[in-house]
Amino acid sequence: MTTAREDRFVENEKLFRTANEGLRERVEGIVEPDQSIPFLCECIDETCIARIDLTPPRSTELCAPMTSGS
Ligand SMILES: [Zn+2]
Repeated sequence: MTTAREDRFVENEKLFRTANEGLRERVEGIVEPDQSIPFLCECIDETCIARIDLTPPRSTELCAPMTSGS
């Protein structure tokens, strides 16, 4: 069961993910390996519009401490 709020969050997350993946694909062949890219934040705060500068290889590691595994 999902509430409308959760639904919206899922939609939001999908949008962010799609945007970020598209962004990464677009920049992957263009940027230098150590050049940072302004990805959209994917944390659970739905009002968060943060942008995180990341280099392509680290693009899954965003500001949210979702799975800080290593
Ligand atoms: Zn955030």
